[in-house]
Amino acid sequence: MAVPFRRTSKTKKRMRRTHLKKEVGALTTCSKCGASIRPHRACTKCGNYKGNEVIKTKEEK
Ligand SMILES: [Zn+2]
Repeated sequence: MAVPFRRTSKTKKRMRRTHLKKEVGALTTCSKCGASIRPHRACTKCGNYKGNEVIKTKEEK
């Protein structure tokens, strides 16, 4: 089995890992309250989806 000739330096390791990061998914704004929401999901702030209230949120009770 092949073995690395040299230990990877801290700098080289870190340079490689600059590409390993979590990406922020697609975001749209709620048509009712304007909050940033994920597409095809009900708004977490006002519970709205396509103009209808589909879930109850704590603030409205
Ligand atoms: Zn909303």
